[in-house]
Amino acid sequence: MSEFSLIDRFFSNIGKAKEDVIIDIGDDAAVVDVSQKKRLAISVDTFVEGVHFPAQTRAYDIGWKSLAVNLSDMAAMGAKPLWVTLAITLPKQDDEWLAEFSRGFNDLAIRFDVRLIGGDTTRGPLSVTVNIFGDSSESSGLVRSAAKPGDKIYVSGFLGDAALGLQSFSKQLPLTTTEQHGLQFKLNRPIPRVKEVLALKSFINSSIDISDGLYADLNHILSASGVGALVYINQIPVSREYQWCCNGLQSYDVALTGGDDYELCVTVSAEKEAQFLDCTEQFETPWSCIGEIKAEQGLLLLNANYEEYRVAGHAYDHFLSDS
Ligand code: ADP
Ligand code: MG
Repeated sequence: MSEFSLIDRFFSNIGKAKEDVIIDIGDDAAVVDVSQKKRLAISVDTFVEGVHFPAQTRAYDIGWKSLAVNLSDMAAMGAKPLWVTLAITLPKQDDEWLAEFSRGFNDLAIRFDVRLIGGDTTRGPLSVTVNIFGDSSESSGLVRSAAKPGDKIYVSGFLGDAALGLQSFSKQLPLTTTEQHGLQFKLNRPIPRVKEVLALKSFINSSIDISDGLYADLNHILSASGVGALVYINQIPVSREYQWCCNGLQSYDVALTGGDDYELCVTVSAEKEAQFLDCTEQFETPWSCIGEIKAEQGLLLLNANYEEYRVAGHAYDHFLSDS
């Protein structure tokens, strides 16, 4: 099959067709109508086999997750996702793999109403790069740098499950096979919190998506905003499976430093907290208050006895060992 029929077959109709796509896949570039949009949010993420996902990851999951992580960046910015492009490098043409990959990508694209409008297809070691464009026209786009002293810190969902899912491939966990599959599902099929954030954003001061672990990502909010925070670690939301794995909660390290959760961490001013919580009621996803922003710099973690909790390990950093 030629490169062109491959594109035609697997990539030419991903996501619902959109009126604001003037030239879709098939020409030298896509053309979109931005006349109704005053500001675009733009982000790109690359996924490399062996680095971002284990070699045994199913094609469907790679398709799903490579789009999910980009949608999660739009959620963090309070932007409405619109269009994506996809640059994919494949070791060989494997129709079954491509069909599954595009099915995973399409299922999420339909769910969040984004259209694949272009890309590039090359041969080489497996790698997937997705570029996303979102509408950030409404006045209340979100940033990391607007946390204020007194803000309450909220996180969505449960933290640490994805990291445990990854551990379960190489380590014996005290869980049934079904429970381990549940954690692996959290790793492979994150649900970006786009719908939640679009409803909640007028009550939020600052926001980030948790991709490298809460500890590292909350620190990004703190340094960008020039503030500090107090976090009560026993308020960090963790699943039952997490509690069984991490010694009846002796350790919150995986929840604090494990990656791949793709939940949101937001700060909410005290005046808007009640409205924020009311608005969260419409979603299944729980939102948990884990602490508070302080004027004094630094991130202080406290355990149930109000003693300082020190984190072992740190967030994944691609270049840490080089420096
Ligand atoms: P060119 O050589 O002019 O860059 P290509 O042959 O790379 O064009 O691509 C032809 C068309 O298919 C373009 O519209 C391009 O955006 C699209 N395309 C190529 N690969 C992909 C892909 N993996 N996903 C989506 N669209 C793609
Ligand atoms: Mg090309």
